[in-house]
Amino acid sequence: MPGFELFGAEERKEVNDVLETGIFMRYGFDGPRKGIWKAKELEQAISSKLNVPYTQLTSSGTTALTTALAALGVGAGDEVIMPTFTFVASFESIFSVGATPVLVDVDDTLTLDPRAVEAAITPRTKVIMPVHMCGAMADLDALKAICEKNNLILLEDAAQSFGASYKGKALGSIGHAGIFSFDFVKTVTCAEGGAVVTSDKDLYLKCDAYSDHGHDHLGVDRGADLHPFMGQNFRISELHAAVGLAQVRKLDKFLAIQRSTKKIFKDALASIPEVSFRRLPDEAGDSATFLGFFLPEENQARAAAAAMKAAGLAAFYWFDNNWHYIRNWEHFKQSATLNHFAPGLQQALELYKIKQFPVSDAIISRCICTPINLGWSESEIKERADKLVKAVKSAL
Ligand SMILES: *Cc1c(COP(=O)(O)O)cnc(C)c1O
Repeated sequence: MPGFELFGAEERKEVNDVLETGIFMRYGFDGPRKGIWKAKELEQAISSKLNVPYTQLTSSGTTALTTALAALGVGAGDEVIMPTFTFVASFESIFSVGATPVLVDVDDTLTLDPRAVEAAITPRTKVIMPVHMCGAMADLDALKAICEKNNLILLEDAAQSFGASYKGKALGSIGHAGIFSFDFVKTVTCAEGGAVVTSDKDLYLKCDAYSDHGHDHLGVDRGADLHPFMGQNFRISELHAAVGLAQVRKLDKFLAIQRSTKKIFKDALASIPEVSFRRLPDEAGDSATFLGFFLPEENQARAAAAAMKAAGLAAFYWFDNNWHYIRNWEHFKQSATLNHFAPGLQQALELYKIKQFPVSDAIISRCICTPINLGWSESEIKERADKLVKAVKSAL
């Protein structure tokens, strides 16, 4: 799963290029940087890898989401539809532009249920934000059709799915904009970093300026830039971009390893009749960072996850996890902030103090995801597949 497992000489070489110039900032210093522009190079590498015209790097996946929302004109009073199963960054970024998150059920794809999305649309809805969880895709045809019918923006959170695709197109490149995270545990890592991708030039230029205090980057130097609007400092550093550049070049290798290992695990588990698998709208496009499966009952899934851990396997039982599923987001449910929300937003959030999500619960409470690592040997994979089957059977 995480690219850091295969960190090596290639990453060191790219970082050393930057260390030799001593220029760690991605903008300016044209003379002393001696032609080294790692952030620019990484943006071009991502654009060409994903076949998308524009890439704007940022300091993280969370700031990429915030940047995209701001550039899309999302703000106070606007509603953004997001799933109950995601990462806390989804609502954090929506709050940071002053907009209102609207939480909607997931289905057996572990991503937004298109029917639940349709039912949640109001006159204030501006964006539908599917989150392509655990390496694979939401039902993008259905979500795109809903956006077109209702004149809404599709913003793909592909933070966990760099390199995955849907019907031949890279995840992130299908909506109006898409974002990725390159944090330390993602498929490709910069240590910390993120990106917004889009085919809309105007949107890209807004992201470019917003993520650097509103600089238009048109001046002869930074001091001569104009500031058409206010922004933030969400810049990535040259050191981080250098790591990412070496990592992106290894993406195909990561994907090949993940796909072949995942198939072995999946084939092994398929021998157990009680196991069903996460539904993938386009199986061929799965980046295969995780194998997701369901057991018939909540208690069986919890017991299977515990048995897997006892056998030395990694198992995410999201229902009990407090980063990824609404059940344990007490701070969100209680609107706990250090400052305070605008009055209307505070009111809109009141419902989450009591709102239940039985449909999502029925899915997530029966689900286990096991990560696919990059560094396992062939014999280790075989041994792990055997242990996986034994652990799951012991819980039935
Ligand atoms: C990791 C992640 C993010 C945020 O990325 P950071 O780089 O850690 O800020 C956003 N959304 C999802 C689904 C993620 O998994």
